[in-house]
Amino acid sequence: MTTTGYFAWQLADRGDRPCVRDDRTELTYREFADRVDAAAQHLQSLGVKRGDVVATFLPNRVELLVTIMAAWRLGAAATPVNPGFTATEADYQLDDANVRVVVGRTPGRSTTRVDVDPDDLPTTPDPAWIVPEEPAGEDVALIIYTSGSTGSPKGVEQTHANAAYMAAAVARHVEVDADDHALLILPLFHSNALYASFLPMMLVGGQLSITGAFSVSRFFADVATLRPTYFSAVPTIYALLTASPDIATADVSSLDFAICGAAPISKELLDAAESSLGVTIVEGYGLTEGTCVSACNPRNGVRKLGTVGVALDGQRIAVVDADGRPVPTGERGEVVISGPNVMRGYLHRPDATASTIIDGRLHTGDIGILDTDGYLSIVDRIKDMIIRGGENVYPKEIEAAIATHPAVLECAVVGGPHTILGEVPIAFVVAYPDTALDSADLADHLHAILTKAKRPTEIHLVDTLPRNPVGKIDKPSLRQRTRSAVD
Ligand code: ATP
Repeated sequence: MTTTGYFAWQLADRGDRPCVRDDRTELTYREFADRVDAAAQHLQSLGVKRGDVVATFLPNRVELLVTIMAAWRLGAAATPVNPGFTATEADYQLDDANVRVVVGRTPGRSTTRVDVDPDDLPTTPDPAWIVPEEPAGEDVALIIYTSGSTGSPKGVEQTHANAAYMAAAVARHVEVDADDHALLILPLFHSNALYASFLPMMLVGGQLSITGAFSVSRFFADVATLRPTYFSAVPTIYALLTASPDIATADVSSLDFAICGAAPISKELLDAAESSLGVTIVEGYGLTEGTCVSACNPRNGVRKLGTVGVALDGQRIAVVDADGRPVPTGERGEVVISGPNVMRGYLHRPDATASTIIDGRLHTGDIGILDTDGYLSIVDRIKDMIIRGGENVYPKEIEAAIATHPAVLECAVVGGPHTILGEVPIAFVVAYPDTALDSADLADHLHAILTKAKRPTEIHLVDTLPRNPVGKIDKPSLRQRTRSAVD
């Protein structure tokens, strides 16, 4: 197995091909390789060595990528911290990962860590530098923190072997090569940006353009001027693009395809986004503990809308019952994954690791169905399931029904408290701009599609849905809203 050293070790061989750019910097592969080595030498002079952890506290910018690769050149791991974090949140991750050096200005105070200003990173390496030995496949390359929606955030240890496998598997599955150019719009402290854009491009010798904070107008301007061939986004971004009047006139002719993942997308929104952007959008599924992507629809083969596609080469996906035995094809169960993508474990949390990776299989906490062709549908997350009077109700099924109403742009369903039934479904719905949507009319629409247990007891029309920093709908905060309404 090639280690991630592969990326950092092969960069210079790509010479003067365009490599990465952001608003202030534009680098060829050779220049990027020089920046990586110069930064590695600087980090080494600060004491960073094999097995240490280097953090970034930066918005998406070239120096964040330089730091990750520089850490790898030294055999150290990188942990990107959400730059929007407060001092308490940042300190939690930096302390938990035992970080020695942070590139960026952290809000917390520490006497044991060194902050490096990204603008002070040297750019020219000493040619006499003796490059440390390449890391081994089992060494940790990245520690990515889960959002903590189910407890304290946990550090997911992704090894060099995980990262090298994942970048190659994604590149092959979505068929990208050196002529491709990814527009990177998602935050780099989350797996999607790393494995759907950054690392596949570095692996195949393609190009990466990093844009600033996402806005619809910025996105369309960047696509028109930078002319990327693809981008990866979460459903919320597709909802924003599709609802924008600018989509009708935007020049998106450079795009060959796009990727959607990280959260469920309705068929209606996927269709609307595909037809307005004029490209195929492949939907994928995965989780940080599985290094990002486990299943994905093919870019050119048979796509089954409403499914998240087939397992990437090298991985096996099964759907199992509570005892870990496979359920019959077409039936619901927990999705378990095995293969070279499965994380080494949760940092410092052997118990959590042991209850998540059982007999080499990663228990995802997602409920899924496999069809006879091996296409996976995600029914819901076990923790989002609503138990109404003892009956299991899946919010995603209700959300899919709500999305069939033509005026609905986005929606989310969560369980709200009920004195007799325990929990009942409650819907939060966003309409397309300038569209009249009335909750009674939507309730009538749902009456014809859903049995009583699945019909939301309340429909709240809202302007926006709360999001976590990656752009996923923040269901815990919606659940909180339903609880405070009762209190
Ligand atoms: P935490 O685990 O702390 O709650 P998180 O959910 O944001 O954080 P990720 O690893 O980013 O952590 O998310 C993985 C989850 O996202 C999957 O387990 C699954 O529930 C959901 N998911 C990802 N892609 C899809 C998809 N295409 N369709 C439906 N759900 C998806």
